[in-house]
Amino acid sequence: MTGPLPYRGRFAPSPTGPLHFGSLVAALGSYAEARARGGEWLVRMEDLDQPREVPGAAAGILRTLEAFGFAWDGGILYQSHRGAAYAAALAQLQASGLTFPCGCSRREIAVAASAVGPEGPIYPGTCRPPPAWDPPIDPPGASPMPDTWPVAALETVHPPSPQPSPARGEGARLPVRSGQAAIRLRVEIPPIAFHDRVQGLVSQDLVAEVGDFVLRRADGLFAYQLAVVVDDAFQGITDIVRGADLTRSTPRQMLLQRLLGLPTPTYAHLPLARDRWGRKLSKSDAAAPVNPRDPLPALLQAWAFLCQSALAERPDTPAAFWAQALTRWDLSRVPQCAQIPGADEVWRGKT
Ligand SMILES: [Zn+2]
Repeated sequence: MTGPLPYRGRFAPSPTGPLHFGSLVAALGSYAEARARGGEWLVRMEDLDQPREVPGAAAGILRTLEAFGFAWDGGILYQSHRGAAYAAALAQLQASGLTFPCGCSRREIAVAASAVGPEGPIYPGTCRPPPAWDPPIDPPGASPMPDTWPVAALETVHPPSPQPSPARGEGARLPVRSGQAAIRLRVEIPPIAFHDRVQGLVSQDLVAEVGDFVLRRADGLFAYQLAVVVDDAFQGITDIVRGADLTRSTPRQMLLQRLLGLPTPTYAHLPLARDRWGRKLSKSDAAAPVNPRDPLPALLQAWAFLCQSALAERPDTPAAFWAQALTRWDLSRVPQCAQIPGADEVWRGKT
C-alpha cells in the first residue's frame, strides 16, 4: 500500500471549542493510520474563521491531544498566519480567468436559485460573466461588440436576475466593488469521482450539487476549501484521514488541486458519531469535551467506535494504549458508512 512518497498525514481541528468525541475519533484514525504505516503526523490549527474562534481553544486542544498521548511531528501550522499563501493561490486562479466577483447576498441567491443542493441553494450564476472571452464572430450587419469586457465592467456590472427579486425592495443594487464582493470559482466540469479508502467509490457532480463556489468571502475571509488545499500541499500531506462530514468537500478540493497544479492525496473518511436518531451530537450530549485528566475511557471508546480488534490487555496509560493500538490498527475494519447512530450512548457507557 505504500506509495512513492513517505506517508504524511495530519489532523486539522478548528479551535471553536474543546476537543470532543467526534474530533477524537478523527484524531485517532489519522494518527493510527500514519504511525502504523511508519509515517509522519502533523497538526494544523484551522483558525481561519477568527470570529468563530473561541479564545484559548487552540491551546486547549493541543494540551488535550498531549494528554491523550498523541505526538505530532514538527510545529503547528496556524491558518491565521497563512493569508499570503491563500492570496497567492487565489491570484493564480484569477489569472487563469476561472474566477469572478460576486456581490449577491445569501438571500438573493436563495431567491434566484433554481436548485437546492445538499449544502443549500445552488448559486444561480447571477454575476457569472459570459462563458467565452474570445472575440465574438459578428454576423453580417450585426452591431460591433467589444473584443472583451473591460476589466472595470467586470467589477461593476451586475446583470439583472431573470425575475424581480423581493430582496431588492430598497431600489437599485450598489455596484459590486472588489472590496465588498466575494470571489467565486466557475465550475464547469464533469462529475469528479475518487476512491475513498473507507467509503469506497465517491462521485459528485459539482455543477449540479454545488455550483460556482466561493473562494474568498465578501468580508475578505478565504474559504475553507481553498485554504485546506493550499495547506495540504504546503505541508506535503500524502494521505488524509478525516470525518465523513468532509466527504462532499473532497471533489471541490480535488478540483482546486488540479487547477493549482498541486498533487492529490489519498482520502479516507471515517464515519461520524451520531445519536440514536442519527442527529449530530449536541454540545449538551456527547459533543461535550473529552476529559484530558481521564483519557483512557474515551480512547478505548474511539477505538471501539472504529471497530478495531480488542486489545490484548487493558492499558493503564495512554502510552500503553498506543503501544498496543499501533500494532493492531487496521483501516479496513472501519465500517463503510457515513455515520454510526447511538454513539453517544456507547461513549458515555450507557450500553
Ligand atoms: Zn453574484
